[in-house]
Amino acid sequence: MAIYLGIERDMLSCSDTKDYDYFIASVHYFTRPDGSHSGVDALSDVMQKYVNECCGGDGLEMAEQYFSLFRDYVIESKPAIIGHFDLVRYNNSILHLYDEESSEYRLMALEALRAMFETNALLEVNTGGVARGYMTTPYPSAFILKEWKAWGGEVIINSDCHDSGLLNAGYDQAENILLSIGYDHVVRLSSEPDKEMWERIDIKHF
Ligand SMILES: [Zn+2]
Repeated sequence: MAIYLGIERDMLSCSDTKDYDYFIASVHYFTRPDGSHSGVDALSDVMQKYVNECCGGDGLEMAEQYFSLFRDYVIESKPAIIGHFDLVRYNNSILHLYDEESSEYRLMALEALRAMFETNALLEVNTGGVARGYMTTPYPSAFILKEWKAWGGEVIINSDCHDSGLLNAGYDQAENILLSIGYDHVVRLSSEPDKEMWERIDIKHF
């Protein structure tokens, strides 16, 4: 079977993308004015401190920073896959930093995503939060998947589970969400050595 070498590459990583067959781009950190870092998916008190000290207490400003960083990173690095696009929701159910239903939030997310779409990257449907038990639905939110579909974008399901026992955790739910939005296929790595690296697969037979 074909075996590919890939990584999830954070925006701050110094790894050379040429050493890999593909990489998943993601953003996990904000850089503070003093050069230190604050995690997007850090504990909630760390996130609240960042919002208070670096965003004037405005959670929407924090989300804007996150999406801007991510947009610029994807445009510059051209990954195969956009990883957990709205990880910025990580602490929102606890901290209520912004309203995920608001047009301000949705527009800023979609504007960043539209710019990323132009790079032809796959959008990851990431079940990692579900697999590890802190999210009830995968990243990204349904409104994002709907818009991505309308643009003609392609998706890939990944569990990002950090645990071999959970490799396909949350896949049934992710497939059902995609089907309900109108997707009929996803993209995955091909296992055939003499075929194209990526292949489309019907969701019903996934
Ligand atoms: Zn990640």
